[in-house]
Amino acid sequence: MVWQPKLSLIFLFVMLTPVFLRAEPGPTERYWLKIGAKNKVERTRVVETGASLEIAKDDYVIAIGDENQREQLEKMGMLQTSYPLSTAPFDFPQEDSQFHDYTEIVAELRKIASDHPNITQLTSIGKSVEGRDIWKIRISGDLKNASALPAAIFMGGHHAREHVSIEMPLFLARHLVEKHAAGDAEVTRLLSGRDVHIIPVVNPDGAEHDVSTGSYQYWRKNRGRNENGSFGTDLNRNYSYLWGMGGSSQNPDAETYMGTAPFSEPETRAIRDFVDAQTNATMLLSFHTFSELILYPWGGTDDPVADERDRSVFVTMAKTMAKWNNYAPMQSSELYIATGDTADWAYATHNIFAFTFELDPSDMFNGGFYPGQAILPEVFRKNLQPCLYMIEYADNPYRVLQSRSQTYGLRSPLLD
Ligand SMILES: [Zn+2]
Repeated sequence: MVWQPKLSLIFLFVMLTPVFLRAEPGPTERYWLKIGAKNKVERTRVVETGASLEIAKDDYVIAIGDENQREQLEKMGMLQTSYPLSTAPFDFPQEDSQFHDYTEIVAELRKIASDHPNITQLTSIGKSVEGRDIWKIRISGDLKNASALPAAIFMGGHHAREHVSIEMPLFLARHLVEKHAAGDAEVTRLLSGRDVHIIPVVNPDGAEHDVSTGSYQYWRKNRGRNENGSFGTDLNRNYSYLWGMGGSSQNPDAETYMGTAPFSEPETRAIRDFVDAQTNATMLLSFHTFSELILYPWGGTDDPVADERDRSVFVTMAKTMAKWNNYAPMQSSELYIATGDTADWAYATHNIFAFTFELDPSDMFNGGFYPGQAILPEVFRKNLQPCLYMIEYADNPYRVLQSRSQTYGLRSPLLD
């Protein structure tokens, strides 16, 4: 029998009974946690226990945490319900065979590169803790001069269990080369003046770990061995800007463990070194799942971006992209404070207009991290135009302020 997570969770949370359906207790036991939290101050308190906050509603949040975090939240009087994560066999290879594991990601990228050698360049930007290459595919209609062209960077898979966030950038790479090969006028024009970099999986060890047993592991972090014997640093809390200043945990067991130092992990160092060297980059989009949100800096502080013009670009872009994917646009810290993430770092360090998308589904009742492959075409469809928009405006992001009511030459069926 295939376990039905949706039904079980709906049953649990509809009942709203504070009954703890515990499996075997143990140090690695982890839970869905339903926690009373009405505002971002309370949501930040939740995150600072080390639990990872996955859904925020008006008066409660859903987070994932271990026994320790569950107990802390209970003592704080905030825990309403908890429910053990299941590792029931969803079976990635069979039921979700359209998802790519690491071997398939590499094969796909190699195929894209070998089928389209004139517009692509496949390189490893570094190695993971376990020695896997972190692959980047560069796509440009003018490869020889690409470094002098405006660049847009797309990445996915910072968090292991967020498999949809790996499929989206892979799809984007496939879409660009296939449309270019087919002579699509728009894509050809777009690529002729741009330098596009796509890194589908920043955390390949974690993604592999999540599916390697044939059961989803709800794994988030990388696979570095911590001093206390536990595994993993939260890569999206390990970037240097405001590192460790809130919304992350010093506890190595925590889902949001910040690491021993900024850029303590080889995966974040690889991203840092690549972006540092990419001086033509003006746009960056880091895909995560889930919740259907468009987030922009700052995430690490309540303050809005100080530069008024930059802030207008972020807000205008977020609202424009929201018209295509129907996600909720907001400053990241409106949700909760989280320091050390990719977008804050890229904007603070390089003035790159950096966004985080929390892709489909909207919530755990629609599948959470494991929504099934049936949603992929719709995710691709509604997030394609936002990606093309970022590429289009990479030459001068401030242009979005002049043309906010226009369709900027791209086909925009949803913007009318
Ligand atoms: Zn994530």
